[in-house]
Amino acid sequence: MIVAKDVQLENEEIVIAWSDGHVSHYPHREVRIDCACAGCIEEMTGRQILDVLSVPADVFAVDFLEVGRYAIQFAWSDGHSTGIYPFTMLRKICKCGDDHSNEQPSPAQSPRREGR
Ligand SMILES: [Zn+2]
Ligand SMILES: [Zn+2]
Repeated sequence: MIVAKDVQLENEEIVIAWSDGHVSHYPHREVRIDCACAGCIEEMTGRQILDVLSVPADVFAVDFLEVGRYAIQFAWSDGHSTGIYPFTMLRKICKCGDDHSNEQPSPAQSPRREGR
């Protein structure tokens, strides 16, 4: 299980250092727009309700909170703070160009099953 070891809120980007040594850089606004809370994404359809144009161009994370060692909750300068970003999702939206999509089991698989 890859976890975030360090989260830095910098002027231009959010920098997350991972337990496997990888470091991800995220523009603030892109993470804000990727919010998957019930206010931004329609639960039944997965459709984005958030009006992306309504998100200020200079929106930034003012604070963050680690949630149960599996996710990070950000508080944004536009007042939004209900979005929880699982580490797996943050790895998936990493902009470094590496393919992180296959490195962890999807939620559909049981992560608790051991051995084989
Ligand atoms: Zn949201
Ligand atoms: Zn990456």
